[in-house]
Amino acid sequence: MNVITCAPCDGAETYRVRADGWFVCPAGHELAPADVDLDGMTTWAVDATGTLGSVVYPAYSLELIAEALDDLAESGNRSAHDAAYSACLDYVAAYRCGVA
Ligand SMILES: [Zn+2]
Repeated sequence: MNVITCAPCDGAETYRVRADGWFVCPAGHELAPADVDLDGMTTWAVDATGTLGSVVYPAYSLELIAEALDDLAESGNRSAHDAAYSACLDYVAAYRCGVA
């Protein structure tokens, strides 16, 4: 999981989830779930400590793993192995945050 830091705190603080589902940094800056701005194939997630971060969509990670394994079977290329491994780590990170 890549931790999302608080922009008003110049990235020095992280957000934690509140009981109402919003996020708050130690300085009191609030962030609504709808305002978490991510691009690409990522979504926000909260880890076991309640810290806000982002993870790659598991379905996308599985797609990358399949492509990398096909590439590995065809080329035996080391970069395909690395791509598959990296996508596996992304998948596990999302799983640990309960993103399915
Ligand atoms: Zn802050």
